[in-house]
Order: sequence, then C-alpha cells, then structure tokens
Amino acid sequence: MEFNRLTIHELQEKLRDGSLTSVEITESVYQRIASVEEKVHSYITLMEETAIGQARAADRRIKEGTAGELTGIPIALKDILCTEGVRTTCGSHILENAVFVGKTNMDEFAMGSSTETSRFGITKNPWDLERIPGGSSGGSAAAVAADECIASLGTDTGGSIRQPAALCGVVGMKPTYGRVSRFGMVAFASSLDQIGPITKDVEDCAIMMNVISGHDTGDSTSVPAEVPDYKKFISRDIRNWTVGIPGEYFVEGIDLEIKAAVDQTVNTLEAIGAKCTRISLPHTEYCVAVYYIIAPSEASSNLARYDGVRYGFRATGEEDLLDMYKKTRSSGFGAEVKRRIMLGTYSLSSGYYDAYYKKASQVRALIRDDFNNAFKRCDVILTPTTPTPAFRVGEKVDDPLQMYLSDIFTLSANLAGIPGISVPCGYTKSGLPMGVQFMANHFEEGKLLQIASAYEKNSKVERRMPEL
Ligand code: GLN
Repeated sequence: MEFNRLTIHELQEKLRDGSLTSVEITESVYQRIASVEEKVHSYITLMEETAIGQARAADRRIKEGTAGELTGIPIALKDILCTEGVRTTCGSHILENAVFVGKTNMDEFAMGSSTETSRFGITKNPWDLERIPGGSSGGSAAAVAADECIASLGTDTGGSIRQPAALCGVVGMKPTYGRVSRFGMVAFASSLDQIGPITKDVEDCAIMMNVISGHDTGDSTSVPAEVPDYKKFISRDIRNWTVGIPGEYFVEGIDLEIKAAVDQTVNTLEAIGAKCTRISLPHTEYCVAVYYIIAPSEASSNLARYDGVRYGFRATGEEDLLDMYKKTRSSGFGAEVKRRIMLGTYSLSSGYYDAYYKKASQVRALIRDDFNNAFKRCDVILTPTTPTPAFRVGEKVDDPLQMYLSDIFTLSANLAGIPGISVPCGYTKSGLPMGVQFMANHFEEGKLLQIASAYEKNSKVERRMPEL
C-alpha cells in the first residue's frame, strides 16, 4: 500500500494500533520520492539515512508508549529553517557551505511567488509540470501535493504558505504573528514572518498547529498566550456565524473560475448555517505598496549579515575588504534578492525614510484598523487565496510587478498580523487546483480551523491526486 498518500491522522491510528511502523511509512515516502522527484523537484536536500534512523527511533518510542503527536510521521521542512547537522541554503548560493537541516525548495530567501528564483532549480507544480507550484514555499507545497511527504512546514511573510498551498491543492495556514516561534528561521522581514503548516487536510493542519504553537524564549516576539487544543475545533458546526466578504478583494483581473468557486463557497457556507455579508476593508488598495516597502526594508537590514565573513559563500579574488563584500554579495545573491536589498536600502535611507518607510508603517496601522473594525461585524473573512490558478514557468519571472501581484490577497494578513488559512475549493476546467482563504482576528486560529473543516466536509470538493 502507498502509505505516503495517507494523512497524519490516518497514519497516527495505524501507528498506534501497531498495524504499521514508521519505517514502513518512511520507506514508502522515499519510494515515492524516487519515482517522482525528478519531475517535481520539491527538495533541495534529501536525508534518507537520517530519516530511516529517526523512523526506527520513533518506532521504539511508539512501542514504549512515549510517542508524541508527530512521532513517526515524515515531515518536510522548508530550507529556510536551520537544522542541526544538515545544511540550510535558503535557496541561495550565498549560504552554500554553511552546515545546517531534508529540506524543501523555495524562492531565494523566500522572496518570490513561484519558486523560480531558487539557485537549486525550479520546483514544478505536480498538477501540471509546465506550471509553477507557487512560492516561496513551493517545494513544501509540491512535496505534500505529490505525496513526497505527509506534511511540511513553510514560512509566510506575504503569502508564501497560503499561495503555494492554493496552487497545489493542499491546506496551508499562516498563524498569528507571535503564535509560532521563529527561532531558527532565517529572517526575511521580521515584523511579517511566520512559520506554519502545509497539509493534506484541515485536521492535519490542526495537529501540526498543536505541535508548533506556543511561547519560546528563543524568540522575543513569540507570545506567551495559552495554546488551545486545535483538534477540538474540527467538526464543530458554524451555525449562525457571520462570514464577511470584502468587496475590495474582487478586483479586475481576478480569474472567472476562481470567482465562481468563491461564490460556490458562499453557497456551501450558507447551506450549513452561516450568514455571509458584504464588508469593506477600505485600505486594501495600499497593501501591495505598503508590503513592498516594509518587507524589502526589513530584508535589506536582515541580509546585511551575509557579507562573506561569517556565513557560507565568499567570493575570491578580492583586492581589499570592501571589494570582498562587493564581490561576495554581487555573485552570492540572485537578481530578485538584490532588487529587494536596493528597494529596502533606498526607502530606509536618510531623506527618504519619512516618505517611504514611515509612511508605509502609518498606512499599515490603517490596514490593521480595517480588520479590527471588520471583526466587530463578522467572525471570519472569506476571500480568494490567489487571483489566478498556477501560471506557467517563465511567465512572470521577468515582470516583478506581475509576480508581486500574485500575493495581492494574502499580504494583508501579514501586515495586520492576523492568521489566515487556504483551503482547496475545487479545480479549473483544465484541472488546476484553486483555494479560498479565511482570515480571523489575532489568535483565532481555532475559528479558522473550525470553518475550514466544516467547509471541507460539506463542500463536496473531491480529493483528487495529481497524475505523475
Ligand atoms: N511573494 C511575497 C514576496 O515575494 C511573499 C513571500 C513570502 O511570504 N515569503 O515577498
């Protein structure tokens, strides 16, 4: 049997009743990787030997009765998360020689929406190998969709978990800013970054959230708030809930099949007792501009440390120290990362700071207020996750603005610090997956899981498998 196709909760049962071992699951995942990885390219680093060793240790723990929630479940990690003894590349050349942790492909330093800017090759969408899987956590989403792991972790600074999850037909959640520790995550934009799960269904997302949520003294921005048992929110009904639908998210250029799928979602939610109502998030039109000032500004400062001295790659042939910095950064970083560093340095420089970074921070506060006001009137907000289904490899790579616009519906949650989840809502006529997004107020991940699982159960969206 192909155990790699099962979910966390299905596998937990089999591990518990002893009908299956972690070694068997891990072997089936690696068999799958051997047959499809060449086509999909989800991974930068594979660690079969370590994984089988961990599986054996997990089987021992299960036998002894000391297993935790994820014991024995094969999980993939985005290659932005530092791991002991296994290298971390961030999809970049500049960290190449650093020693760090089987890790999935990503846009370089998580800057992108297609996984095309990785120095380690392009990940393909398992549903159509000529298309991108989304990004920047494209490898993490593709690996789950292609059953090359059971679940994975991604990071989301402006949509990088939810957007690839939608484009690959899987579930992805960005938690509230501060819900999950960022300790060990290579920083992109520190006021926006969050780690979160990518899974095959909503229940698995709840299980992963139970494991990764909570306060950590290693990350001063992680919040010491109590973590509920997220599994309790699965299969609760949503009768009498109010679902807000912001008119501003149905912009010109949105794909008609996606629009129709969102309309269908509204019907499903109403059929199970929710009330859907139009709301307004008036500052939505500034989200892209605000994000593309704040994120590059923070990135330019975070990436200053990669100068060839302490981390990874150093260019050779330098004349003096300054020249070494220049040569290292010029050849170590890819074009998109350099674009961001230049944008960020510009908006932070004296004389421009007030006009750009400060102004963007002020508008960011207004965007946050929009959500605060909206949540006085509704429990959750429903939007499409992406304006279009997966685009073709190469289609937007030379057009940064078009690329930036593919996150138009996800950036706002990061700017406001609120949680968001993308759930599959069907397929286009040509067979590409689509996703809807739910957003809730700070620390209301439980509500997101509740509505997402109610929707998943009642939407009659069939669970297809990509043919590979
Ligand atoms: N695509 C957005 C960007 O390029 C978001 C990336 C992310 O969430 N890491 O910045």
